[in-house]
This record gives sequence, C-alpha cells and structure tokens, in this order.
Amino acid sequence: MNTSFHPTPRTLMGPGPSDVHPRVLGAMGKATIGHLDPEFVGLMEEIKDLMRYTFRTSNLLTLPLSAPGSAAMEAAYANLLEPGDKAIVCINGVFGMRMAENVRRMGGELVTVEDEWGTQVDPEKLLAALNDNPDAKIVGFVHAETSTGVCSDVKTLCGLAKEHGCLTIVDSVTGLAGVELNVDEWQADVAYSGTQKCLSAPPGISLITFSQAAADRVKARNTPVQSWFLDVSLLMAYWEGGQGGGRTYHHTAPVNAMYGLHEALLMVKEEGLEQSWEKHRTMHASLYENLSGLGLEFVVDASYRLPQLNLVKVPEGVDEAAVRQQLLQQFNLEIGAGLGAFAGKVWRIGLMGYSARQENVQLCTSALRACLS
Ligand SMILES: *Cc1c(COP(=O)(O)O)cnc(C)c1O
Repeated sequence: MNTSFHPTPRTLMGPGPSDVHPRVLGAMGKATIGHLDPEFVGLMEEIKDLMRYTFRTSNLLTLPLSAPGSAAMEAAYANLLEPGDKAIVCINGVFGMRMAENVRRMGGELVTVEDEWGTQVDPEKLLAALNDNPDAKIVGFVHAETSTGVCSDVKTLCGLAKEHGCLTIVDSVTGLAGVELNVDEWQADVAYSGTQKCLSAPPGISLITFSQAAADRVKARNTPVQSWFLDVSLLMAYWEGGQGGGRTYHHTAPVNAMYGLHEALLMVKEEGLEQSWEKHRTMHASLYENLSGLGLEFVVDASYRLPQLNLVKVPEGVDEAAVRQQLLQQFNLEIGAGLGAFAGKVWRIGLMGYSARQENVQLCTSALRACLS
C-alpha cells in the first residue's frame, strides 16, 4: 500500500538545504493562482524589488529562475558567453570547477586561475591572467565556496576584472544574506544565488541579476543563447512584459515556490541585511567557541572563513561517515561531508539563514560531544 509521505523533521546544518522558516512553508501552502493572474503579477514585481534590496543593486534585469542555483550558474554563462569568447574562471573548490565546465560546454575559450582548496581566490593570480589574456571578455569566480567554506574578495576581484574590460560573473549562492555583498558598488555584472542556503526557502529556485553592461552584452550577441529555457531575453517577456507591456507565457512559473521565495526575501528585509550578516557572524562565533571547547579544529583561516559554512577537521581515528549517520539517527541532525580534496577529512557545518540559531548551535555541540565521547 502506498501512503502519504511524512518526513521526520530534521535540523539542517549541512551545506544546504537549510532549515526553512515556518512562515515560508506557510506561504507556500496558500492557494495556487494562475501564473498570469494580476495578483501574481503584483507578487512578481515585489519579488524583483526585494531581490534588488538583497543583492544591493538597482539592476532592471533582476529576476528569479524556475530552477535551482546550478541553473543560474548556467544562465550566467549561457547569456554572456558566445562560442569562441575567452573567459577566465577562478577555481578554489567544486563550484569554480563547475563554472569552468560551463565555459567548456558553451564553446568558450577557457583560462583557469587555480588556488588551493581552503584558500581564497588570489587577486595577484587573477591580475597575471588578465595581463596574459588581454582578449578575455569574462571573469567568473565564487564568492562563498560551499565546498571549502572560503569567502573570496568580490570587490577586489571584480575591480581588477573591470579595469581590464571584462564582465564579471559572481556566484553568491551561499553568500547572499549570509555575508556582505554589494552588487552595484562592487561591480558584479552578473550575480546569482539560490533559495536553499541563507535565504532559507526550499531548494528549487534561483535568483539572478544583470548589470546594464551585461544586459547590453546579451542584446549585442551575434549568436542565439544556446539554452532556450535560460535565455533572459525570452524570460523577460514574462517577468517584465514585452514591447506592448503585456506579459506573455514563457513557461509556467512554479507559483507556490514563488510565494515561498517572496516570504523568505521579505523576512530578510524585515530583519535587515546588515542584521542578517551580523546574526551569521554571532552564531559562527558561538559554534567556534563550543566546538573548540570539544577540541575540534576549524580548517579555514579566520580572516576569510565563511560564518555560514564551517569546515571542521575530523579528529584522528574517528569515522566521519559514522558520526554523520549517528547525528541523523539519534539527533535528527544533518551536517555535511567533505567534498573532493576534503572528502573523509572534514565535516561541513552550515549555519545558514534560519539554521543560524542558538538552539541549533547548542544541539550541534551536544550531539557532537555525545558522538565523539
Ligand atoms: C549550492 C550551490 C550551487 C548550486 O545550487 P543548487 O541549488 O544546488 O543547484 C552553486 N554554487 C554554490 C557556491 C553553491 O553553494
């Protein structure tokens, strides 16, 4: 007999998804209306406004995509890059590698700047690559590398790229609302994020914004965007309305998921962006103090550590997977495993959005204490 699904409520302290606030879940349970209903169109306008607040931008071309963060990454490269265009991608973890893969698949000429996992993207290396490749058109990098817990310097990296005439693509899927990001002031041409990290809405939707220069680049393309679904010019016929002002069908927006995104963004605004960053710092400090007290070590240098994603060394002789399993089974607590170079060596403990709460810090501390004793 098939029956309804009743998931066990968990505390989510991994690399995403994060805990979803009941207000967001409540919003998503409201009545479904048409994706062209005037009330829904009003909601779309509010979502774009709240996105501009959260990204700190006045970009007109700002919209959610009906697919997760990975789709926003793909949309960024698909729209800006034409076959043969040279793109410099900075790699210091899994998501930088994925950016490079996007450039390859879209027929771009790829130049990589590589830094060791667990360290920042080095501006000096980017500068050298820019000097060696004066024909580069795009620079892409990850603001908050979720695979390593490292925060890179968006302002400096974008500044260098812009001085060399490049457009910038900034992955802030884990960064947005967790650490400072100023899209306009820091000259990010395309920045994107997702619902399931520090915005604390369920996974499945992403957020993307294009500067005027990036929008102009899209308009000036000689070749069509390779992805029909992610072509922003087509998407804007729905999200903005065409020449005649009327909005036209592109795809059916996931209406209830958009209610959730709206509520999550509204909660960031109500809290205040600076307060949200501060909350993540405070909860990180509390987790750091507690876990250090258990003799656990943090991998990433404090000066560029992400407060919302903590890489903690697995102590000598401890089976990292067994501990995660015990945390899930006994404490309904999810934390993340290490990826790539860090597989088997670290845990990734997320304090993202609604997960960044003192009760979560205490649960994680006491549960880890129990597992390790
Ligand atoms: C999670 C994440 C993504 C991908 O987002 P999905 O919603 O999983 O598709 C991309 N980049 C970074 C840095 C991420 O942390």
